[in-house]
Amino acid sequence: MHELSLCQSIQGIVDRARDGRPVATVHLRVGRLRQVVPETLSYCWGLVTEAGPLAGSVLDVDHVPVVLDCRDCGERTTVADALLLTCGACGSGAIRVASGEELLVTSIDLAPRGPTAPATTPTTHTAEED
Ligand SMILES: [Zn+2]
Repeated sequence: MHELSLCQSIQGIVDRARDGRPVATVHLRVGRLRQVVPETLSYCWGLVTEAGPLAGSVLDVDHVPVVLDCRDCGERTTVADALLLTCGACGSGAIRVASGEELLVTSIDLAPRGPTAPATTPTTHTAEED
């Protein structure tokens, strides 16, 4: 499954970036040309992260529309149908994809540490001297 392998690579990226810290939300930018089904992506994320330190984290997907630059008329158009890549202005097939192919982890929201897992750094300021 396409989404499953995507989730595995996302997990790898997030796991390196989180540096041992708990993660609440992973923000992604996914181009329409990636043909990703959002529901399937979320479902696969749950499967992939189920047993690991990322369990319970969620994906927040920002879908990037397909934008084409036309080599014939020079217009930049956004297409609704990612399967029909022709210029929206003149219909030419001589196009360059300006956006819609991205698959990026843009940011990660870290989860607050729970009260059962206090920070290990000792505090140097105390209001209880005396
Ligand atoms: Zn055109």
